Amino acid sequence: MNFAIVGAGFSGAVLAYELANAGHYIHIFESRGHIGGNCHSERDKNTNIMIHKYGPHIFHTDNKEVWDYVNQFANFMPYINRVKTISKGKVFSLPINLHTINQFFDKCLNPNEAKKLIESIADESIKDPSSFEEQALKFIGKDLYESFFKGYTIKQWGVEPKELPASILKRLPVRFNYDDNYFNHKYQGIPKDGYTPIIESLLNHKNIKLNLNTQFSSDQKDDFHHVFFTGPIDAWFNYEYGRLGYRTLDFKREEHDGDYQGCAVMNYGDQDIPYTRISEHKHFSPWEYHDKTVIFKEYSRYCEDEDIPYYPIRLVNEKAMLMTYIERAKEQSKVSFLGRLGTYRYLDMDVTILEALESSRQIISFISSNETLPTFFVEPI
Ligand code: UDP
Repeated sequence: MNFAIVGAGFSGAVLAYELANAGHYIHIFESRGHIGGNCHSERDKNTNIMIHKYGPHIFHTDNKEVWDYVNQFANFMPYINRVKTISKGKVFSLPINLHTINQFFDKCLNPNEAKKLIESIADESIKDPSSFEEQALKFIGKDLYESFFKGYTIKQWGVEPKELPASILKRLPVRFNYDDNYFNHKYQGIPKDGYTPIIESLLNHKNIKLNLNTQFSSDQKDDFHHVFFTGPIDAWFNYEYGRLGYRTLDFKREEHDGDYQGCAVMNYGDQDIPYTRISEHKHFSPWEYHDKTVIFKEYSRYCEDEDIPYYPIRLVNEKAMLMTYIERAKEQSKVSFLGRLGTYRYLDMDVTILEALESSRQIISFISSNETLPTFFVEPI
């Protein structure tokens, strides 16, 4: 069959690879001038340091199938993400662990003592946290919350943490040992040559035709047996019911000699520092040596019409608008919506890949039994 896939990020590329291997013909339409979506990586022109153009991407997963899958296409180097944060002129270890607790309270507690301390400051009255703020107060208490999460989150999301879902904070663990691995996942690494070659390998197939700098319009739908749309779901409908809210990021680049901050990611918890974090990209490739260094200060703001969408906001208003788009999408024929933008969800790379893999299996089985392909393989709400 002839399929159009809109978007050459992980969702589109995995789908293209799997469907091409099953004998189908794939036309990819990518509006940007490069592949990889927001995972795109490239070498910095001045310093030759590998840059994650749209912000740091560390691959981490618990899913062996996904880990084995990506390892077919790249040489993943062992990498543990260790993030630090600055609050009121002092540096602390993240995610909150025994070192952070001892640093913050100027103590020398063992795990049990630290647990007791945190229990004594945590807000016990919150039984079932319904917001980011309640989740934080219940698990770490007011002082740690205000130093590390409140200011950062207001900068990152542009709203008060009491308006945000608890799920955002649930991404981060609290530990009563000295483990400062930012992620809890079993497998973690960074591809030696960046993410772009992975996408290149996925798309390097005789049945796949890649069109860069090419917008796809829903009017072209009938040229194909089916369209898999990984762009923003509201864009498919020309934003007829409004624009779904996203946060976008601005990166301010600086070049320095030597080592700027001694680690890959330094967060800034104070609200009066305008950026959320500074990434120093050469530390994501510790197997390389560079005299120079390049850093990016990261500023988050509301995503306007011409900006690149990063984080779906998904508050009450956006969810209502999303429902309208979902209903309209289900009335369409011959189009399915996938991925971070197609389903308007905050997805890590591993989840994106797993969903694309599972979707392609379903597609192949639906086609073999002559069934209509679904609008969504994963419900967006
Ligand atoms: N967060 C925070 N302070 C930090 C790090 C994270 O308040 O130093 C909050 C913030 O709201 C963020 C969320 O925790 O959006 C999830 O953090 P994560 O590091 O997973 O964000 P990502 O890397 O996806 O931007």
